[in-house]
Amino acid sequence: MFSSQQISDSLWVDVSPARNAAPALTGRAETDVAVIGGGFSGLSTALHLARAGHSVTLLEGRSVGYGGSGRNNGQVIPTMTAAEPDAIEERFGAAGERFVALVRDSASYLFDTARAEGVDCEGEQTGWFQPAHRESRMKLSQARVNAWAKRGAPARLLDRAEASRVIGSDRWFGGMYNPTGGHINPLALARGLASACEKKGVAIHEASPVEAVERRDGKWHLKTREGELVARAVMLASNAYTGFQEAGLAPKVARSVVPVLSWQMATTPLDEAQRAVVVPGREAVSDTHGDLHFFRFDKRNRLVTGGALAVGHNGPERLKALVGRRLREAFPVLGMPEFDFVWNGYIGMTEDRFPYICQLGPDFWCWAGCNGRGVGLSVSLGRELAAAIAGTPVEELALPLSDPRPIPLHGLVKTLAPPFMLPLYRWRDGRD
Ligand SMILES: Cc1cc2nc3c(=O)[nH]c(=O)nc-3n(C[C@H](O)[C@H](O)[C@H](O)COP(=O)(O)OP(=O)(O)OC[C@H]3O[C@@H](n4cnc5c(N)ncnc54)[C@H](O)[C@@H]3O)c2cc1C
Repeated sequence: MFSSQQISDSLWVDVSPARNAAPALTGRAETDVAVIGGGFSGLSTALHLARAGHSVTLLEGRSVGYGGSGRNNGQVIPTMTAAEPDAIEERFGAAGERFVALVRDSASYLFDTARAEGVDCEGEQTGWFQPAHRESRMKLSQARVNAWAKRGAPARLLDRAEASRVIGSDRWFGGMYNPTGGHINPLALARGLASACEKKGVAIHEASPVEAVERRDGKWHLKTREGELVARAVMLASNAYTGFQEAGLAPKVARSVVPVLSWQMATTPLDEAQRAVVVPGREAVSDTHGDLHFFRFDKRNRLVTGGALAVGHNGPERLKALVGRRLREAFPVLGMPEFDFVWNGYIGMTEDRFPYICQLGPDFWCWAGCNGRGVGLSVSLGRELAAAIAGTPVEELALPLSDPRPIPLHGLVKTLAPPFMLPLYRWRDGRD
């Protein structure tokens, strides 16, 4: 069974500006738009609606940034993990084309939004690099560069010598580089967006898990333990954490997504000699392994990295050995690195590796299932979903809609996915 680390174990809790918790919802309140979930998706939707003058109330079950948004690696990446632009456009037509453009611009949009709202999220727009871990994967890198360059993205292919200069290691073979990417402190971004929302009049209630959403008398009624919120429109932004706090919240959405635990770690701060060798340009790096190898610096020169485990037993100690060895092999200058922080969070996986963006009822919107790439995406989708809620016709928006498809035997799939899928990914990683 997996052991879920508390968010308080994370580097980001240690280094982010504190936030005074907003009070829980008590009694009955009315709003134009109710947002469920205080991660990037909910906060971005609330922010864009508030900018347009709507009255918005956001209900967060625990605390702002409690979900994936406060726990992630902070890599701002302008692509999806597995859904390629051609396939998205083929499946969704014009909406797919608009969505691909949204993904293309999503990294810059996140950095621009943080700047516009005066949020200090330790953002570094130093670029994102996806190096090929086998020579054969260069074909994939080339195909991706072609697909994105055709659509106006500034993506380019680096050869092996350039890759080794960017990474500071010759273990990779080249790969796709996109200068619009980079990295952030994600919890600082979530808390900063929450403050920006509050300044624009959004009412935020933390420790207010929504138990149920019901339609009565032409309005949505959101029930919490101590209160009720009545709204014209609802945005469900609980993503991979849907159903974790209250099983009755949108079970159809919860059962369409498989939450998979992803482990994150931060080394002790590197010294200047090590820092000058390892990723000297401070890009965000995540490679072509299915069992992903990824790392980036934080502001204090810690390498923030992580890995996956098939079984969670004694997870932090096993990961320190596994990921420490990987880093030592790639960067001998590090020796066997020490880790100050190990934590984890749930990523929402979907069967076809494409998110659900859906309308669950009149003026009731939702998206879920980032498949590991939702930092930039959440902020941009928040803008589009805010526009939909405000009445912009969906034909004008970057919203490729599909219905959630509950997975049969979801409970079993959730438990068995990591022990079966990770060995398969590792097996594939070792082959051309
Ligand atoms: C460990 C990890 C590493 C990752 N690394 C990266 C990365 O480097 N780059 C990248 O692009 N993506 C990454 N991701 C994915 C990214 O973090 C997510 O896609 C993104 O944060 C999703 O944001 P969200 O707002 O949609 O959901 P979340 O941030 O998960 O927010 C959902 C919120 O809903 C709340 N909630 C749940 N139930 C209720 C309820 N009943 N009532 C009220 N509130 C409720 C939760 O408490 C939570 O705060 C990573 C994810 C994880 C977990």
